[in-house]
Amino acid sequence: MDLKELKIELLKISKKYKKNYIWTALNRLEYLEVKESLFSFTSFLWNNVSISERIYCILNNIKSLNLCIICNKNKTRFYNNIKWYWLYCWKKCLGKSNLVFLIINN
Ligand SMILES: [Zn+2]
Repeated sequence: MDLKELKIELLKISKKYKKNYIWTALNRLEYLEVKESLFSFTSFLWNNVSISERIYCILNNIKSLNLCIICNKNKTRFYNNIKWYWLYCWKKCLGKSNLVFLIINN
């Protein structure tokens, strides 16, 4: 299964099943190939990430770890609720950001 096919399958599954049942669905034999492709295309992610994060990366063409824009070293957190990555790794880097500084001071 290539990336394009995987995207199509994931979109179908996410339409068919409610968010909380996607993982259960992916564990079914009929989706074995989808599940294997999903893990292989997102193998750059850490092992303990959520299934939503893996699906998000496939659907949004993310092919490498999302790094903090300040230190460029640490991975940023993925927020399931808003389906987005933080720009910064931690409060220290957040504090160093001129962008945040400008917003707070204006
Ligand atoms: Zn950082």
